Amino acid sequence: MSHDWFRAGTLALLALTAAPVRAADPVAPVAQALARADAAVQRIVALPEAERDFDRTIGAIDDLIAQLEIDTNLIQFMAYVSIDAEERRAGQQAEEEITNWLIDLYKNEPLYRAVRSFADAGPALEGEQGQLLKHVLRDFRRAGMELSVADRSRLAEIEKEITALSIEFERNIRDDESRVPLLRDELRGLPEDYFGQFGPDRRHGDLLLVGLSYPEFLPIVTLCENETTRKRVWVAYKRRGGQKNVSVLERILKLRAQAAALLKYEHPADYEIEVRMAKDAATVMRFYEELRPLVRRKAERDLRQFTAAKQRHTGRSTAVLYPWDTAFYQNLIKKERFEVDSEAVREYFPLEAVLDGLFSITQSLYGLEYHDVTAAAPSRGRALWHEDVKLYEVRDRSSGRVLGEFSLDLHPRPNKYTHAAQWGLGQHKVWSDGRVSLPVAALVCNFTKPTAQKPSLMTHDEVETFFHEFGHCLHTILSEARYWTLAGTHVERDFVEAPSQMFENWVWDADVLSTFARHYKTNATFPPELLRGMIDARHLGSGLDAEHQFYYGLVDMAYHTVPDGVVDTTKVANDLFTQIEQFDSVPCVFFQASFGHLTGYQAGYYGYQWSLVYACDMFERFGAQGMLNPAAGMEYRQKILARGGTVDGQQLVREYLGREPDPSAYLRHLGLEDEE
Ligand SMILES: [Zn+2]
Repeated sequence: MSHDWFRAGTLALLALTAAPVRAADPVAPVAQALARADAAVQRIVALPEAERDFDRTIGAIDDLIAQLEIDTNLIQFMAYVSIDAEERRAGQQAEEEITNWLIDLYKNEPLYRAVRSFADAGPALEGEQGQLLKHVLRDFRRAGMELSVADRSRLAEIEKEITALSIEFERNIRDDESRVPLLRDELRGLPEDYFGQFGPDRRHGDLLLVGLSYPEFLPIVTLCENETTRKRVWVAYKRRGGQKNVSVLERILKLRAQAAALLKYEHPADYEIEVRMAKDAATVMRFYEELRPLVRRKAERDLRQFTAAKQRHTGRSTAVLYPWDTAFYQNLIKKERFEVDSEAVREYFPLEAVLDGLFSITQSLYGLEYHDVTAAAPSRGRALWHEDVKLYEVRDRSSGRVLGEFSLDLHPRPNKYTHAAQWGLGQHKVWSDGRVSLPVAALVCNFTKPTAQKPSLMTHDEVETFFHEFGHCLHTILSEARYWTLAGTHVERDFVEAPSQMFENWVWDADVLSTFARHYKTNATFPPELLRGMIDARHLGSGLDAEHQFYYGLVDMAYHTVPDGVVDTTKVANDLFTQIEQFDSVPCVFFQASFGHLTGYQAGYYGYQWSLVYACDMFERFGAQGMLNPAAGMEYRQKILARGGTVDGQQLVREYLGREPDPSAYLRHLGLEDEE
């Protein structure tokens, strides 16, 4: 199950040099920011040719994008986290206006002429400047600057409609309030503290209205003994977003195909993937074709193992395994065969201890210091959008230099973004006058909130998710790029997950876990035999899990490789489910209606698997040098994290590894070396 999602895009940024606090009227600041950006465009265009140079042309485009994001990113971010409906609405509106303004920016004819005039003079540029010019020229071409005026304006219309529909799609997911009415009796197997999260509005005697956020959904499919309950909740989960979102999605797919056709790409996937490591859709399909047979045997073995467990558990020798069973039987086998009781494991991961561990590991590994500056947030002009939010400052340990800030917003609440994600709220940037803007990141997660009786006890999966998202956070914070649009996580989208996926390995290491895992009552250290069981069980179900990931990726590819974009998304999703996974499809579901990756990350889901290949390969160096070795950490910080997108991903990885990348570490990661 992938409940990690890096939120990419132009959203939500805020830098330390400017201090835009939440404004009383958030619409006016957006209008002001756009007017300021328009004026900056005019200055580039009006510059006499004799004075045209890098800083005042290409660098100035980076400047104006940075300034626009500094001025508006917090307002946009509020769409996802604010407790105030009006602020969420204003955030969505701001996001739409700014996205549209950026669409127009790259269709601005005089600006393009200014850029061309600089580029055509054949300036000798090195390093980041060369990379930035390459990106700017590419982005103008992809925005249709080589098309006729009529085609270009049609393209702009299409892109703006896609923006509006994408926001609607995401809003429908966020606002989904599906509830499954269930009796306490139907929830056998769930621990007592599960029920603490239901207030009087969702509880009537022994009847509960169960929602579909992770803290409500995951325990049911993992722990509930009642198969009918698991099935009902699973089906409801796969129907989030509703039929209305199926229609929104199908309209978006048509528009994307029209845009790709105008730009002379065969389909949207080729357009999207051109700027990634994979370069085109055919390469992605080959990647899957090579992997699928390698994983299939493991998935078949997993299916046999899980089915046998179900037959034993139910006493029915003909019992069949269904998709709503996999988490439950995975957990059961873990408990019975590997003696890993997930609920017992949670008792060693109170959130405070995990946070301390995560902090001390990363501080030591990368030579950092974190300081809780939550109390000083108002005086720093920092927004705290909810009482749960904490703010930290990051310093470089050896120089004492402030490197950036990050916020943590860890618990679910109504109307909040429902996954776990990192927002780069500000990027590293050196302005032409020497001023430096420092990165700001926000982690938005949905971990169970502590109650009066019990601290927030995290599942091992949640601990892994936390490390994953924090990997994104450090990618943002530790950037040393000069230009905003090359900094931090502004890397190819099929590489962006690699640093965070790599960091997941830390929660699987005995030495690492012994530094922070403590029983929440007794303070006992993590029992070594429990960890041994967990490590032995790590590959339990890895074939089924990997095929499930392939399924998501291949649905995404199928949706985006149809030249006219006319797709019956439910039929395609169901057909592929039967082909790719080990189960028959369930016709009454339409998971794509809540598949948030389809907006913003379209034709990009494959990137999780693609970047995992690099993550596993990069991790080898830590395996060899030690996972808590500061020298290994510093080398990684300098060669990968600090560089962001200042060079292409392929080169970045090669220079870090000192060799060509190699997929064998990835295959070992899936546990395929166990195959006889
Ligand atoms: Zn991620």
